[in-house]
Amino acid sequence: MSKYIVGNWKMNQTLPEIKAYFEYVEKYSAKFNCESWIAPQAIHLAPLMNKSKKIVLGAQNSAPFDKGAYTGEVSPVALKELGAKFTIVGHSERRTYFKEHHALLNKKTEAALNAGLKVIFCVGETAQERNDDRTFVVIEEQLREGLKSIIIPNPEALLVAYEPIWAIGTGMNATASQAQEVHEFIRVQLKDTFPTTGKDLPILYGGSVNTENIESLLAQRDIDGALVGGASLKPEDYTKLCLLASKF
Ligand code: PEP
Repeated sequence: MSKYIVGNWKMNQTLPEIKAYFEYVEKYSAKFNCESWIAPQAIHLAPLMNKSKKIVLGAQNSAPFDKGAYTGEVSPVALKELGAKFTIVGHSERRTYFKEHHALLNKKTEAALNAGLKVIFCVGETAQERNDDRTFVVIEEQLREGLKSIIIPNPEALLVAYEPIWAIGTGMNATASQAQEVHEFIRVQLKDTFPTTGKDLPILYGGSVNTENIESLLAQRDIDGALVGGASLKPEDYTKLCLLASKF
């Protein structure tokens, strides 16, 4: 399986910055031999469509419904119609700041898959939970509740991102072996939940990934790629991450 490099730009980048970013990345993208994905702000998806043959665009968030009286929400159907290929569900910033919990995330996952979007479903523990030896308990619950009754239309439709909250935006990444240990656990859960496809669903690591640590992370058996925040904002770093991932 090709490795994944997914850039999560969060609420960053202006139109001029995006233009310069794509001009830079496009000088190298023909050499990318990995899945190179980027999630800009939803409003920037339209101007970015067709700017690159290589980079797959997706959303950072999507509504739990197709349409209706939900002021301010972004429909997964509208995202799909626009050309977005994926959406991120359950990012810890959404769980923490916007109080998104299992049942809502489950609905968002279902609505996005029904609309034909791929879903990157994020899980991860806090520092306190890790210190209390509750990492596996927390991850198991997030997967069980968030993916309850979910039917995957094809084996590429669902990706899971393991993002320890203590590692997001802190510069303190999980070591390759800490990440591998949790990825292996997630793999077991996925095989249990999805007996035919679970063994093949990509599992990404996220949390202070950079050009220095990417190779040791991707070398792990159950790490199929990375979800990258801060480092994905710099075109030079994103390009380097994609080139390094292309070697696997
Ligand atoms: C993220 O927000 O998904 C993330 C992993 O951020 P960072 O790479 O900055 O830690």
